[in-house]
Amino acid sequence: MNRDLPRTNEKAETDSKKNDFFHSLTSQIGSVGKIEIARDSVSEPVIRSWCDAMSESNPLYINQNFAEDSKYKGIIAPPAMLQVWTMSGLHLGNQFQRNSEDSPSAEVYQLLDDAGFTGVVATNAAYHYDEMIKPGDLISGSQKLLDVSVEKTTAIGVGHFVTTETTYSNSHGKQVGSMEFRVLKFRPGTGRKNQQKSSRPKPASNNSTDWFWDACNNKELRIQSCDECGNLQHPPAVRCLLCGSVSLDSVAATGKGNLHSWAIAHYPQVPAFNYPLIVGLVELEEGIRLVSNITDIDPEELEIDMPLEVHWLDVNNEFTLHQFRPKENERQKLESRNDKIDKDRDQSSVSDTNESEAQNVEKQVSKLDPAKVQIGDELPISPVEITTLLIVSTALATRDYQDVHHDPKAAQSKGMPDIFMNILTSTGIVSRWINDWAGPAIEWSSIDLKLGTPNHPDDTMTLSGSVTEKTENGDQISLNISFLGKNDRGVHVSGNAEVLLLKNSKQKE
Ligand code: ZN
Repeated sequence: MNRDLPRTNEKAETDSKKNDFFHSLTSQIGSVGKIEIARDSVSEPVIRSWCDAMSESNPLYINQNFAEDSKYKGIIAPPAMLQVWTMSGLHLGNQFQRNSEDSPSAEVYQLLDDAGFTGVVATNAAYHYDEMIKPGDLISGSQKLLDVSVEKTTAIGVGHFVTTETTYSNSHGKQVGSMEFRVLKFRPGTGRKNQQKSSRPKPASNNSTDWFWDACNNKELRIQSCDECGNLQHPPAVRCLLCGSVSLDSVAATGKGNLHSWAIAHYPQVPAFNYPLIVGLVELEEGIRLVSNITDIDPEELEIDMPLEVHWLDVNNEFTLHQFRPKENERQKLESRNDKIDKDRDQSSVSDTNESEAQNVEKQVSKLDPAKVQIGDELPISPVEITTLLIVSTALATRDYQDVHHDPKAAQSKGMPDIFMNILTSTGIVSRWINDWAGPAIEWSSIDLKLGTPNHPDDTMTLSGSVTEKTENGDQISLNISFLGKNDRGVHVSGNAEVLLLKNSKQKE
C-alpha cells in the first residue's frame, strides 16, 4: 500500500468533505414540514379513474347502491389511494417547486441532486389506515424527515436512503392514516449493469440427438424411425426400442397432434420462462408423444385431446425450440368465445339500473368464506402483464407526473433501461389482488411494501401470497397476508398486509 503523505492528506480531505456533506444532509432530521392541504377534495371521478387503471372492481369504491347498503353508507376511497390526494399534480408552464418549508425532504433532495445523486427510486412504503376516506373529504398531510442514511452501494447505484413519515388528516382534523416512505437517491450509472432477461437454456444435445435439434433450427419436427421394422420413437435413442436395430433414420412429422396431458409449473420460477408455464404431453398424429410447452392459451382453457399444432421459438438467432399451440381453428374459437365474454361484459356495464348491473355486482362479490380461512391458505397466483399503458395510466391515476414513469428517455438519463411502475401502483395492484380474493367486506388496517427490481414494460409480474396470521375476535377475523410479486429479473415487491374480514359477510349472496 502506498503510504506517502500527500495521498493521505488527499484522502483526509475527501473524508472531511464527505463528513460535511453528510452533516448537511442530516441536519434536518426530525423536522416537520408545514401542513399541506390537497388542492381538491376527494371525489368519485378521481376514485373511478384510479379503479379503472388498477382494474379494481370492489363495489364499495364504485357502486353507489352497493356502498349505500354497507356500513359506510356510501362510496369510500380505496385505502391504497391514501397518498394520492395530496400529490402535487401537474403544473405545466408553471413549474411548481416545493420549498423546504413544504417538506423537510425537499432540501435534502436538492442537496443530493446538486451532488450528482439525481436518480430516485422508492424502496419502501408502509401505510397505516385509521379511518376510511370518503368523497368530499379534504385531505391534508404533514411530513417529518425521519432519516438520511450514509452513502450506500446498491444494485441500482451509489446513493443515500431518505426516510420520511407523512400523517394524513381529514377536514375535521381527524387522522385518517400515515405513511412511512423511503427512497434511494442515487448517482446514475453507478449500479450493477442492468441484467438482460436471460435467454432460454439450450437443450442438451449429443451425437445421437444433434439431428433432431438441427431439424428444429430449420423449423422441422422430425421423429426417429427404424429402417428395419419401421418403428417410430421419441426421444431419439441409439437403437430401435422395438427390434434393437441400430439402423435408424428419421421422418418429418406433420406437426399436428392432440393434448394428451399437461402440468402447470409455478415454482420455482426460472428466469427466461414466462409463468404460469404450461408443460404439455403432445400426442402427434404419427402416434408418438413428446413433451413441449403449450403457448397462446390460458391454462384454464386447456382441454384433454384439444388439437394442437407446432410453432417455433427462435432464441437469440442461436437455436430454435418447438412449441405447441391450439390449432388455428381452435384458436379462433377460443378468441371468439373471449370476444363474446368481453362483449357481454361491455353490454352489462353500459346499462345502468337493470338486472345485468345487479348480476355484475354479484359477480364482484367474492366467493371466499371468511370463516373458513386458515393460516397457510394461499391466495390465487395472479400474473399481471406490465405494459407501457399500465405504467403510464396508473402513474397518472395516482397523480404522479415524475418523468421516469412515462418518458423512456428521461428514465434512461437517470440510469434505468426504460420507464418503470411507481410505488403507488405497486401498492394499488397488490391491494386490488387481495380485495379480489377477500371480497368487498374487507377492511384494511395496514400494508407494508418493500420494492426491489423495477417493473418495466413487457415484464410479467406474478403475485403470490398466503395467510400467515389469523386472530378471531367475535365476528371479526384479523388476517396477516404476506405477499410477493416477481418478474423475470427478480422480486419487484414483497411485504405484508393486515386486513379484517367479517365471518358472516358471505351471507350477502
Ligand atoms: Zn426396429
